[in-house]
Amino acid sequence: MSGTDVIILRIGHRPERDQRVTTHVGLTARALGAQGMYLAAADKGVVQSIEDVVSRWGGDFFCQDTVKWRSCIKDWKAQGGMVVHLTMYGLNLPDVIGEIKTHKKILVIVGAEKVPGDIYGLADYNVAVTGQPHSEISSLALFLDHFYSGQEFRHEFPGSKIRIIPSKAGKQTEEQ
Ligand code: SAM
Repeated sequence: MSGTDVIILRIGHRPERDQRVTTHVGLTARALGAQGMYLAAADKGVVQSIEDVVSRWGGDFFCQDTVKWRSCIKDWKAQGGMVVHLTMYGLNLPDVIGEIKTHKKILVIVGAEKVPGDIYGLADYNVAVTGQPHSEISSLALFLDHFYSGQEFRHEFPGSKIRIIPSKAGKQTEEQ
């Protein structure tokens, strides 16, 4: 969303089993106001699925695969960015979101399988979305909602070919 640079770093992706979940991480990030997703694995299928949505539904969300997570984090920090790792072992979201909101350039790391131990030390904040195990999609959605304080519902997606007209019943769309 305007004035912020929030990018997701997806690590631990296994193309043979995580394609759907990783695509949904990207789509959730896009819908809730983030600007892009780095994928620390080679998977053009995920990139293609997300780019297809962007071309139809607008905005300029990017997805880049084959990213090396360690250098991605290093480069991000060198550019003055801050790193949040979503993990149930971290500090609870409501206790740290106020501090996190003072930053404008944030890399949000989400895992798939067990994440490398180094990530906990490289992150500026290890953030728990409750101390219970659930999913990278739900934790990311709640993080972004708290970070943007609900303003993501007003986010615009310029250049869309299709737009939904909110309706009490039925489906209404407008083709551009
Ligand atoms: N078993 C894995 C581990 O021990 O790291 C966690 C796998 S979980 C299905 C995948 C990702 O979801 C985690 O890497 C984390 O980013 C996110 N996640 C799951 N539960 C979370 C929670 N309560 N708070 C924050 N993130 C969470």
